Order: sequence, then structure tokens, then C-alpha cells
Amino acid sequence: MVKKYRHNNSPAGIVLVLHLEKGRTMIHQMNAVSNRVESSQQAMEWEDRYGAHNYHPLPVVLDKGKGIEVWDVEGKRYFDFLSAYSAVNQGHCHPRIIDALTEQAGKLTLTSRAFYNSRLGEFEKLICEMLGYDKVLAMNSGAEANETALKLARKWAYKVKGVPADRAKIVAVQNNFHGRTLGIVSASTEAASTDHYGPFLPGFVIIPYNDLEALEASFQDPDVCAFWVEPIQGEAGVIIPDHGYLSGIRKLCDQYNVLFMADEVQTGMARTGKMLACDHELVRPDVLILGKALSGGTMPVSAVLADDEIMLTIKPGEHGSTFGGNPLACAVGIASLQVLVDENLSDNAHRMGKIFRTRMEEIAMKTSMVRAVRGKGLLNAIDIEPIGDTTAWEVCVALKDKGLLAKPTRRDTIRFAPPLIINEQQMLECCHIIEESILTIS
Ligand code: PLP
Repeated sequence: MVKKYRHNNSPAGIVLVLHLEKGRTMIHQMNAVSNRVESSQQAMEWEDRYGAHNYHPLPVVLDKGKGIEVWDVEGKRYFDFLSAYSAVNQGHCHPRIIDALTEQAGKLTLTSRAFYNSRLGEFEKLICEMLGYDKVLAMNSGAEANETALKLARKWAYKVKGVPADRAKIVAVQNNFHGRTLGIVSASTEAASTDHYGPFLPGFVIIPYNDLEALEASFQDPDVCAFWVEPIQGEAGVIIPDHGYLSGIRKLCDQYNVLFMADEVQTGMARTGKMLACDHELVRPDVLILGKALSGGTMPVSAVLADDEIMLTIKPGEHGSTFGGNPLACAVGIASLQVLVDENLSDNAHRMGKIFRTRMEEIAMKTSMVRAVRGKGLLNAIDIEPIGDTTAWEVCVALKDKGLLAKPTRRDTIRFAPPLIINEQQMLECCHIIEESILTIS
């Protein structure tokens, strides 16, 4: 059967001829005329009509970004206080990162790991020396890096620790967020991540966050090989554990011969005022999981770092990714790391974060709508006390209308995470927008 299909909204001339044969659908011919959105309204309608409904975005359509600012299709400017969930720490389209990207894009982008490439070793050397690990395994998304860590933990369990076959257990915590693969959500306690996705991967033990007693109790099981945790829980609402939690984890992991696996996909790369959130307690995890800002938000680049005893348990052919460690990603990764160091973004995050929280505390004194303020560096959150129908969502819409973008993470919590290049004057202007929006709405 041949079916001709003309798209209603397409410019004239787009005709797709589909062959439907024995259940197979094939695009036979297509006059590809690109569809460009002409307004924010149209972009939202097309996303709604043609895209899966797996996100619920704020009604703003971004078209351009520079530094801490972004612009919508109509040219309205906003301060970005989400930074693509902390992926754009270096600011939108950082010139050094974009230069590295475009230069490498014109030379070589992908080889697969079937061959060596001239940028991977360079990236690996830089990141290992910078963060103090023997080896790195490069992947793409944060979820892939976490999956890699889970596999490493199991390999290490069987090949080094001596856990009997298929009995390895990994301890994770309540309200964790490590990504969206089936393996990862098997350890999730969030209904939105798990509903109707079962059956799940076995081998996880879930304990409360920030609870060293529960951790020690879970370590009594000799089949436990790893503890997998975010040093600050980002998606759960910027939940900061007690000081001493991270060093306590380190101590218990050493005592019970269990790997400490820190997911710093969101907290890493200077976000919390140190290069890594674990640095606040001078703690070195056995397995360090990074992503997001490793590319300054230009493309998916993630990595797992560990020492040889752990990393070399995976042999050639036992794990990988076509795109992981590609030369384009490596060029971008190198530039992104250099920008973080050269621009001293950890220190700036620390200083700007203090200003932000001080101003938010002042707002909290003026309205009961701000129930709590917390954060570290530039990973911050406020809890909103809903008034009638006005929840954190309505506050974010009001902020957007006044030119600042943030998003609720959990129902009543708004996360504020601008690019780390923000300066004091910009920060004060943004805090003023937040104050005005909240005081008007409350
Ligand atoms: N781990 C943490 C702590 C995260 O915050 C996220 C994403 O928000 C991920 C993993 C998943 O990263 P990605 O969305 O790149 O797969």
C-alpha cells in the first residue's frame, strides 16, 4: 500500500510517501523543506503536537543564550536561574568552549572507540590529574555515567571483593535521583520515575538519606559492594546533609570494604562553591560520577573516575558507547574544565551563593510564603508555602513574566542555580526580581 501524506501545518511541497508493507513503514520519498518556528506560540504548539509529553516546561521558548542571559523567540530577555539543571555552569555559549567546539567540529567529530583519537587521551589525562584518579571512563549522559558506575560496582564486587555470583547489592537512598534508565530507576523511590515501569533490576537496598546509622546497618550484609549517593540531593529539592555525613560515609566504606560512589552530575564542576561537593569535607569517593557541566552545556559529556583496582575490572568489549569519548566531546570537555579553573568559578559560586541566600532570608522575613532557604554555592532552593492556588509553579510563572527563569523541583520547592559566572551586580538585580515577584504574588 502506498499512502500519501500531506502535513496540515507544513509549507506547501512537503509530501511524504510512505510504503506500508507487511507491517513495515518506510519513508520512500521526502521533499525536505525545513520547518522554522515563527513565534513562541507556534513552537509550543508543535512541541505539544509532535513531541512526547514527558516534560512540563514553563511557557517560554528560548532561542538564544549568552552568559547568564537567554532570549525568547520574540527577543524578550531573561536571566537563566536554572542553567539547564546545572549543565551551563560556565554560562551560555562560553566563547572558549564554543571555539573549541567549532574548531574540533571542522576537523574530526567521531571515530568510535574502534580506533584511538587524538583528543581522548588529552582529555583523560587532564581530568584524571585535575581530580586525582588513576582512570576515567567517558560516556555521554549523566544517566549513562551512573549506569557505568553500577556496572563497575558489580564487577568489583565479584572480581575484587569476592561477593558470590549474582549476589552483589548496592545501597542507595530515599529520594535519590541518578537519571532515567531502567537500571537507575530500579533504585528510585519516586512514583513518577517508577510507576508502570516494572519489573525492576534487583540488588538495591534503600536507606534514608543523611543517616549514618542506617548506612552502617546496611553494611552488615557482606554482599553489599557499594553506596551510591548524591553529596547534595539536587532533584529532591537541594537537600543538604549534615556536615560530617560525607566523611562518615568515607569512614564506613573503608571499614566495611564498600565502594563510595558519589553522583556529582549536578553538584560537581564548581556548582556548590568547590570543584566537587565532596571537597567540602575533603572526602575522595572511590567512584566519582560527573556529567552536565563537563561540556559547559554544549553537548552530552559524562565521565566516571576511579582507580585501577576498580576501573580495570572492566575489560575490552565489556562496556562502552559509540559516542563516549568522541573527539568533539573531548575538545569541549577540556575547554570546559579549563574555564572552570581559569575563571575561578568555584570561588565565585561560593561568594555569589552567600549573597543570594542572605537576600532570600531577607525576603523570607517579609512574607510567610518563603518557608525555608537553603543551598551551597550556587545550588540553592526556597520552599514555598502555597497560598490558595498559588504554588511554586505560579511563582515561577511570575518570575518568568518579570524576566527570570527558574523551575520548581518537587512540588513546593524552587531551585535557583544560575551560571557560575554571574557577578554581584547581576545577582543583586536578580534577587530584586525574585523579591518583587514573590511579594506581589503573596
Ligand atoms: N545524576 C544526577 C544527580 C542528576 O541531577 C541528573 C540529572 O538531573 C542525572 C544524574 C542524569 O543526568 P542526565 O539527565 O544527563 O542523564
